[in-house]
Amino acid sequence: MGTRKSAVVTGSTSGIGLGIARAFAQAGLNVTLNGLGDPAEIEKIRSGLAAETGVEVRYDGANLMRAEGGGELVNGAIAAFGTVDVLVNNAGIQHVSPVEDFPLDKWDQIIALNLSSAFWTTRAALGGMKARKWGRIINVASAHGLVASPFKSAYVAAKHGVVGFTKTVALEGARDGVRCNAICPGYVLTQLVENQIPDTMKARNMTREQVINDVLLAAQPTKEFVKVEDIAALAVFLTTDAANQFNGAAISLDGGWTVQ
Ligand code: NAD
Repeated sequence: MGTRKSAVVTGSTSGIGLGIARAFAQAGLNVTLNGLGDPAEIEKIRSGLAAETGVEVRYDGANLMRAEGGGELVNGAIAAFGTVDVLVNNAGIQHVSPVEDFPLDKWDQIIALNLSSAFWTTRAALGGMKARKWGRIINVASAHGLVASPFKSAYVAAKHGVVGFTKTVALEGARDGVRCNAICPGYVLTQLVENQIPDTMKARNMTREQVINDVLLAAQPTKEFVKVEDIAALAVFLTTDAANQFNGAAISLDGGWTVQ
């Protein structure tokens, strides 16, 4: 338990979460990684990040589809590092299907991980942040927290929910030095996006190239994927003094998708 602040990043064994965890470690915060994956691979990531940055990096495999998982994750980080000062709710999954065929269990899983897990972790972390008069909660929502696409009913519902939850937490923490904001990225070429290409090909009867150009990047005027590093830099900025008046915002990082 030193003087370093401590960050918890959910779903940080790959993709956007790992990029955000790396950026906070580089900024000098002790980091708790979380997510699924091959234990040996995760240990390589954990030890590599610690060696590269000189901060303490721990891993907690709490399953955030269970309500208890959020509390376990946050309380484990408090036990190890003394505090949770920065909480990034990033873990998420996707499923692509028309509403009539949308599997009931997929709906429940997406609502649990993409929406409820942010509540479960925040519920556990907010009291300590308020007591210390400083805390930053960053929710990785999506452009789909602001606008919809067909065949992503559960994801769009969950991400709109995250934007609403962000606003509520922003109000509850405002007088106690806690800030809560949502980042709303457009498409980032992570595993999550790779995985939905085959389903979208099926749902829309398209080739892979058509899905990338006519579906994924169709909405992004820049015709570029958003970079993990850009999201991570924004997350770090949101923890600086200069960002003190960002509270309850849903910040688009989507190349102009949602202004159309
Ligand atoms: P990813 O699949 O690379 O990462 C998802 C992370 O969540 C992984 O670490 C995974 O292990 C973890 N995870 C999965 N199930 C879990 C569980 N039950 N408990 C705990 N962790 C679990 O995907 P990504 O693209 O990096 O997505 C990260 C976040 O960014 C998600 O919330 C996603 O909705 C959001 N997002 C992604 C994009 C994009 O285009 N990739 C765009 C906007 C928003």
